[in-house]
Amino acid sequence: MMSLSKKEKKKAYDMMELWEDDVLERYPEDISKTKEEFRNYETPARDTVREFYKTNHEFQTYDFVLAKEKQYLARNNREMSLWEAVEFLNTLVDDSDPDIELDQTQHLLQTSEAIRADGHPDWFVLTGFLHDLGKVLCLFGEPQWAVVGDTFPVGCKHSDKIVYSEFFDINPDSQHEVYNTTLGIYEQHCGLNNVHMSWGHDEYIYHIMKDYLPEEGLYMLRYHSFYSQHREKAYDHLMSKHDYEMFKWVDIFNQYDLYSKAPVAPDVNKLRPYYEDLASQFLPDVLRF
Ligand code: FE
Ligand code: FE
Repeated sequence: MMSLSKKEKKKAYDMMELWEDDVLERYPEDISKTKEEFRNYETPARDTVREFYKTNHEFQTYDFVLAKEKQYLARNNREMSLWEAVEFLNTLVDDSDPDIELDQTQHLLQTSEAIRADGHPDWFVLTGFLHDLGKVLCLFGEPQWAVVGDTFPVGCKHSDKIVYSEFFDINPDSQHEVYNTTLGIYEQHCGLNNVHMSWGHDEYIYHIMKDYLPEEGLYMLRYHSFYSQHREKAYDHLMSKHDYEMFKWVDIFNQYDLYSKAPVAPDVNKLRPYYEDLASQFLPDVLRF
C-alpha cells in the first residue's frame, strides 16, 4: 500500500477542514445570519473550496463510481479494530501542527458525546463515534475529491441545488443521453438503495458497518454528506417512502455532525474505555476495510 508524505497528509486534512467549514457556512446553526454575512468570497480558502468542487464534479462520473465500488467494497485493504482505525485516521494530523484546532478523533468524540449527552441509545452514540472513519480512504491514496465533499447520485441528472453545480458542465455524464435525464438509469421513487452515490467516505463506512448497526444508523452513515437531499430536497423523485422515514434520523444526526463543536476538546484517553466497551457490544473485534 502506498503511504502519504507528511505534506500530503496535511493537505488532505486541511481539505477536510475546509469542506466542513464550507458546509457550516452554507448551513449555519443560526439561520438568522445570512449566507452573505458568513461568506467571504475573496479568501484563498474560498478558491481552494471552488477548485475542490470543480475537480469533484468533473471526475465523479457513473463509471468512476462503479470502479471505486468494485475496488473498495471487496474490503481487502486492511483489517483493524475500531480503535486502530481511529488511530490510523488520526495519522492524518501531525500533533505538532500549531494550527490544527481539532483532530479527527476529537471530531468523532464531540459528535458522539453530544449524542450521548442528549440521552440517545447506544447504537446512535456509536454511529456518531465512527461516522467519519471512511476518511481513511485518504490514507489508501484516494484524492480528497473522492473522500470528502457533498455526495450526490450518479447515473441521473445533477441537481442545480448541489453546491457549485455549474461545474457539472465539465462532467462527461452531463453529455450522456441517459445519465443527463431526470431519472437517468433509475425509476421514479425506486429508493436510494438502488441508487449509486458519488464515491466518498459515507458509502465506504456504510459498507464496513452494514451488518452491525440498526438501519437508522446505517442511513446516517451512508447519507450524512448528501446535503442536496437532506437539506435541499433535490432528489425527491428517487426517494422511497421508507427513505423519507429514515431521513428523519439523518436530519437528527446532521445537527450533531455540524453543530457539536465544543470549546473544550474531549479527553480522548478518558473516553476510550467507554467507546471500546460500546464497540464490543455491536462490532466484531476486527473490522475489514
Ligand atoms: Fe463525514
Ligand atoms: Fe463528520
